[in-house]
Amino acid sequence: MFLKDRTAAITGSTSGIGLAYARALAKEGANLVINGIMPPADAEKLRTDLEQEFGIKVVFSPADMTKPAEIAGFIAEGEKAFGAIDILINNAGIQYVAPIDEFPLEKWDQIIAINLSSAFHTIRAALPKMKEKGWGRIINTASAHAFVASPFKSAYVSAKHGIAGLTKTVALEVATKGITVNAIAPGYVWTPLVEKQIPDTMKARNMTKEQVINDVLLDAQPTKEFVTVEQVAALALFLCTDAAKSITGATLPIDGGWTAA
Ligand code: NAD
Repeated sequence: MFLKDRTAAITGSTSGIGLAYARALAKEGANLVINGIMPPADAEKLRTDLEQEFGIKVVFSPADMTKPAEIAGFIAEGEKAFGAIDILINNAGIQYVAPIDEFPLEKWDQIIAINLSSAFHTIRAALPKMKEKGWGRIINTASAHAFVASPFKSAYVSAKHGIAGLTKTVALEVATKGITVNAIAPGYVWTPLVEKQIPDTMKARNMTKEQVINDVLLDAQPTKEFVTVEQVAALALFLCTDAAKSITGATLPIDGGWTAA
């Protein structure tokens, strides 16, 4: 229970990788500020289920990660409930797949806002209290797409490359303050985000569902296996330990060898 006196705020933690981060940190005793797009009754059930399962305190924030004022409110709510955010995990993200000359303007803006700018806003708001405490962990969910591109994902690839740059910059700014800033770069993880992009990829590449899974998604991954949400969460947990205090400014691949190729 090495996180018993810590509070973690995780954007986009109602499903997939974000929920796995929440569960892994809760298991080590951290109180949580969770967030995502979810009907209020479902969010309340998730909140109370986590509290009961792990014996911790959980606040749910419905902040929309496209709205800077709501993002600042997400951090403020956590600080009001728990005093400070010790561990900030930027994870909310969406995908859209289309050739760039057909890419909807509003999808570009939405992906840059959720997948990149929201991390700027949360970090900006949470850092002063971390500096005061002289301890902090900031973990951004990047992607193999922080290193390499795939066609038809212009906004996503741009946002994830941006996350790697933001991670390095903030790491340098706070290097002497006891705060580490890293990004985790998963390959394909089977979550609703991946499942939802299959129909669009089928259309963009004129393929069947099986072809998209085997010839597009798993084709990129030398292990021919999806990464699991638990494996991604275990890496985040390690970054929160004292053993990881010299790891900062890194974007760490967990991608079955994808970016080694
Ligand atoms: P997911 O769809 O399961 O979860 C996305 C989360 O973001 C949900 O909680 C959702 O409610 C939240 N969200 C979406 N829009 C939001 C908004 N406007 N405001 C607040 N919350 C919002 O997806 P996932 O696969 O778990 O993705 C999580 C992160 O991991 C993303 O940043 C994604 O880019 C990254 N990632 C995923 C994969 C993968 O293969 N699944 C690979 C690499 C990186």
